[in-house]
Amino acid sequence: MMKQPNTQTLMQWDRQYLWHPFTPMKAWMEKADPPIIERGQDEFLFDTQGRKYIDGVSSLWCNVHGHHIPELDQAVRDQLDKIAHSTLLGLCNVPSIMLAKRLVDMAPAGLSRVFYSDNGSTAVEVACKLAYQYWANLGQPEKSRFISLRDAYHGDTLGAVSVGGIPAFHQVYEPLCFPVDRVAPPLLRPFAGPDAAIAPAQSLTSHAGNLLWQQNIEDLLAQSPGRYAAVILEPLIQGAGGMLMHPPGTLRTLRQLADKHNVLLICDEVMTGFGRTGKMFACDHERVTPDLLCLSKGLTAGYMPLGATLATDKIFDAFYADPREGKTFFHGHTFTGHPLACAVALASLDLMDTRRTLEHAGHLATVMATGLEPLRDHPHVGDIRQLGLVAAVDIVPNRQSGSRFDYHWRIGGELCTLMRQQGLLLRPLADTLVLMPPLASKPQSVQRMTEIVVESVRNVKCVIDQKQELPKP
Ligand SMILES: *Cc1c(COP(=O)(O)O)cnc(C)c1O
Repeated sequence: MMKQPNTQTLMQWDRQYLWHPFTPMKAWMEKADPPIIERGQDEFLFDTQGRKYIDGVSSLWCNVHGHHIPELDQAVRDQLDKIAHSTLLGLCNVPSIMLAKRLVDMAPAGLSRVFYSDNGSTAVEVACKLAYQYWANLGQPEKSRFISLRDAYHGDTLGAVSVGGIPAFHQVYEPLCFPVDRVAPPLLRPFAGPDAAIAPAQSLTSHAGNLLWQQNIEDLLAQSPGRYAAVILEPLIQGAGGMLMHPPGTLRTLRQLADKHNVLLICDEVMTGFGRTGKMFACDHERVTPDLLCLSKGLTAGYMPLGATLATDKIFDAFYADPREGKTFFHGHTFTGHPLACAVALASLDLMDTRRTLEHAGHLATVMATGLEPLRDHPHVGDIRQLGLVAAVDIVPNRQSGSRFDYHWRIGGELCTLMRQQGLLLRPLADTLVLMPPLASKPQSVQRMTEIVVESVRNVKCVIDQKQELPKP
């Protein structure tokens, strides 16, 4: 292999040859000065210059046990010693079979089949196509439309963009998307203190906002019986839309509405799955079984790309027919059920059991909530919310007025740049700071992380003052 060039050359090549995801490349080329990550150890990342950072967003919401974990590395090596990849089209492979059984055993009761794909977006594509074809196969093709929540994020492929809808990212593609009915999400849940971080469903009461949301969906379903295929949502937390958290009971209510009006329920747990919210799946908080469940990110502990869409017998049976009936699900990717990815997923689930990762994460959630307490009454903090090991801090011009900063000020981004100098890597969602460390982090790392966040928010006024001195673009 080519010898690794020095940091300066790497950065120059990055600017010359790469096109980064979700990135305004002009600004990137002109001023970005990101670290080049070279290695990782547990919850830490190290750049080419040897600087150490806490991986405060689990390498984009997917890492579970930390980096460079011997058991996980070994699982990949063991599989490499047998075979890296073979296809699931017309053949089987060992790890994909074992993982499918494991997922069915642990998923909400009733989910009985696993359809693999490559990532979160494709897991959602598969769910949407299955829901649509389910009704077609039952002879009700007019049940074809989807209901989704505003500010939902389901991925970046066009089907996922159709049911998702973060205007800043996706508006431009609207003409390419299929039409979807969008309903305003339930109101945010206010921060309820350290206890709520572990068992929010028991310790909080529902919002009035829940009722309006419910009414909107009920109206759509009642006005057009026979029109809808499915309702799709991210249960409990809408991630990329701003870590919007639903009041307890929302998911359960939605399950009941879907049953009453005979539509399917699709839960996109790409982010919330595998312990992030304090239970293995967000659905477990409300003992809900969706008809289709989308998984990715934490599925492989953040080691490898892999998606899975789980379905109930009811869905599977609608496709189970003589080939001549034309009910087959004709969908598949080259790397569907990739053996290396499935092998590391299995090893990760073993580790979650033996190390009691969920229990540990519950303890960390308390550390995180306690650490963020000092921000609760801060004049520039609009809201803090947390569920499990997911916390969001909204930075606002003024706590009372409810207004927002000029988007171009990038207050969230500026704060994260400052925190990076303190050894913490975070990626904000606009002006919302997101804290989502690996579930296996050490308590003192989570503690340190909250200290850096609290400190940087205390300095937010300096960042604002700098912005105010700049001329308007
Ligand atoms: C990240 C994410 C996706 C998309 O997953 P990719 O692997 O990035 O395609 C879909 N849904 C949710 C809820 C996500 O957080």
